[in-house]
Amino acid sequence: MRIGIGYDVHQLTQNRKLILGGVEIPYHLGLLGHSDADVLTHAICDAILGAAALGDIGTHFPDTDETYAGMDSQVFLRDIAAMIREQNYIIQNIDSTVIAQRPKLAPYVNQMRRKISESLDISEEQVSVKATTAEGLGIVGNEQAIVAQAIACLRKVI
Ligand code: ZN
Repeated sequence: MRIGIGYDVHQLTQNRKLILGGVEIPYHLGLLGHSDADVLTHAICDAILGAAALGDIGTHFPDTDETYAGMDSQVFLRDIAAMIREQNYIIQNIDSTVIAQRPKLAPYVNQMRRKISESLDISEEQVSVKATTAEGLGIVGNEQAIVAQAIACLRKVI
């Protein structure tokens, strides 16, 4: 069994969509980044890559590459799932936390789990998404940013 950790932060700004776990969430602010800036999906990508010791999302999908401008981060997730399958790993489970002061994410958590599990070709029960606030403290609390953390557990099949 191998375990990997992922962490990501993106700045909240105007005139951007808020996409978390592949789900577009109606809000007046969105996340800034080269791709769709899906902070949750990026943290999960890094957790999976970390568990397989295959580097990080920045090495595989550099933000200097125009190919990835505005890219749907589910594409990264699907590519990473294929990468680890090639190394004979399967995903046991993913756990994750999104830390956002606003908006309320609870109504979207199951949609996110569905989307992520589809991209990884695993079952929804293998994907956990939790949401919390920063109690009004720091860059997350004052809505300058959203943070995500994830952990992935992989198993070698051969
Ligand atoms: Zn990111």
